[in-house]
Amino acid sequence: MNNLSEIIKVQVETMDRRTREAVRYLGYGKNAADENTLALIKDAFAMLEATAAPKSVSRIFEMEQREDGCIIIGNMEIRSTSLNRNLKGCTKAVLFGATLGGAVDRLIRRVSITDMAKAVVLQACAAAFLEEYCDSEQLKIGRRLEKEGLYLRPRFSPGYGDLDIHYQEPIMRILECAKTIGLTMTDSFMMTPTKSVTALIGASPVKERCPVQGCEACEKKDCEYRR
Ligand code: SF4
Repeated sequence: MNNLSEIIKVQVETMDRRTREAVRYLGYGKNAADENTLALIKDAFAMLEATAAPKSVSRIFEMEQREDGCIIIGNMEIRSTSLNRNLKGCTKAVLFGATLGGAVDRLIRRVSITDMAKAVVLQACAAAFLEEYCDSEQLKIGRRLEKEGLYLRPRFSPGYGDLDIHYQEPIMRILECAKTIGLTMTDSFMMTPTKSVTALIGASPVKERCPVQGCEACEKKDCEYRR
């Protein structure tokens, strides 16, 4: 390895996770971002810390996987081969919703009027900030369920694999997202505030030790539940 790639490797490895994620969202892949971008990222996270009002809501349901491939969670019927695979062996499922709040959208809009580069970095950092928040909320849910001997699989959002985006609607309705966390959706499934997430999370009696960051961060490459 030459000196430059050594330096880049060390720089990427020493970044905290949210910075690494923001760098990835900005399209740098596994390469290091330049100093200027890293400074913009640091500023963006500071702005988000001061602006975001993250909220989440979750409900736990019994679930069943019917032989015809239909997944029943509460009174919701879902058809998706990839979710079916991911939930195999689960006995319960968590419906989950989270948002960073409307002030983050307003911040990004304001910044984009005067500094587009900064706004692009803010967008990436807000996505990383939201992921980090969802991970921490999921860890709390996981700790509660572990007391019942259940272990969480990764979050699975409408739009992943063949899970149709329209499942966002029943998830948000069941969670009463408008009332509980101020999250609504347009007819074209755009969420307001935009930095928001809905997801399903399976809970299985078998301890798979899924990392909260999900299958992409998991070394079990041959896992039959991989999303
Ligand atoms: S690949 Fe890893 S994170 Fe994904 S379901 Fe399997 S064990 Fe869990």
